[in-house]
Amino acid sequence: MTLKIIGLPQDNNSSFMTGPALGPDKIKEALFSDSSNMFSETGLDLGNEGIWEDSGNLNLNNLKGQAAFSKIRETILELLQKGDHFIGLGGDHSVSWPIIDAHAEIYSSLNILHVDAHPDLYDSLLDNKYSHASPFARLMESGKIKKLIQVGIRTLNKHQREQAERFDVEIHEMRDLSRVDKINFEGPVFCSVDLDALDPAFAPGVSHFEPGGMSTRYLLDLLRTFKGDLVGADIVEFNPRRDFHDLTAMVGAKILKELISRIFITNYN
Ligand code: MN
Ligand code: MN
Repeated sequence: MTLKIIGLPQDNNSSFMTGPALGPDKIKEALFSDSSNMFSETGLDLGNEGIWEDSGNLNLNNLKGQAAFSKIRETILELLQKGDHFIGLGGDHSVSWPIIDAHAEIYSSLNILHVDAHPDLYDSLLDNKYSHASPFARLMESGKIKKLIQVGIRTLNKHQREQAERFDVEIHEMRDLSRVDKINFEGPVFCSVDLDALDPAFAPGVSHFEPGGMSTRYLLDLLRTFKGDLVGADIVEFNPRRDFHDLTAMVGAKILKELISRIFITNYN
């Protein structure tokens, strides 16, 4: 059993600008940067062999639409069937649909913690049912997800509010966020982190700036303290084309370290 980190350099379903396909390599570069060390805040040395494995990037060249989704889903399903665990580095947020669908196949009663400025519940965006604004609509339609909790949301429109009601989504909007200690699940949890959940001041390397977001510290505390068994995660929507001095890459690497630590401690200790 190994915790595997895999890059998913896909951009096909971005709606405003491309760039997230360049994200995985930049986050890994930041993780290994000599400007910091390899310890998580929990005291785990991620430099030790056997804690996690860099499985490179999935080759999605020339794959579009369902072909790319199928490859992502099958790769992750195979890995989970062997008892491995997975953290994905995106890529635009559309990759979370096949990633989490594969997890739901293995973990019955899977829960999702989704951290984002956007609810990503569009039935369809720009005529694309699989756009980066729709993965959680597809997942909730499948009927395989026990509970979806969204944190950091600050862009709800009428359609997405209706979708949230339809799928019984628990939303903690950014405007009334003072309850980091109230995020509770029972059983397995997949955590999907869209970096635009953070205020653009903390993470400028994203395609969609949405001011009024959370701090990096707040996000780290949320990921450390929510109740539930973390079995897998992804970090998506990092766009290196918008970054300053690799600031967002370092934020992504920091979040990655703490997610590795929690998945390791939950499942391998
Ligand atoms: Mn977003
Ligand atoms: Mn998103």
